[in-house]
Amino acid sequence: MSNSIFQDIIDKKIPAEIIYEDDLVLAFNDISPQAPIHILVIPKKPITKLSTSDDGDQELLGHLLLVVKKITADKNILDYRVTINNGAEAGQTVFHLHLHILAGRTFGWPPG
Ligand code: 5GP
Repeated sequence: MSNSIFQDIIDKKIPAEIIYEDDLVLAFNDISPQAPIHILVIPKKPITKLSTSDDGDQELLGHLLLVVKKITADKNILDYRVTINNGAEAGQTVFHLHLHILAGRTFGWPPG
């Protein structure tokens, strides 16, 4: 069982602006948006980070990307960035796997 803040959002113990939900995933607005659109997509399964997922998560990981596609298509978001921070040095602060969808402005490359 994960004890991250995202588990509390999944369990509806703390509120979030939910964008999408199904049996496997939840998507909600980031509390501290880094772009005009900043949505987090998370598995309900408490995977700490991408590198701790396993072969049995293949379908779930694919589903997460298809949910990104669905959310962006539904919102008519044409250009966007999808980011996964894996580990503290990569910028991960919440240790429950999540995909950032960022859109609504121009992004630089490489990221900082
Ligand atoms: P990370 O840095 O781990 O890749 O991203 C974690 C993200 O979660 C950050 O963008 C941060 O703003 C967001 N976040 C942290 N706590 C909460 C919260 O309680 N609610 C929501 N909606 N987002 C959160």
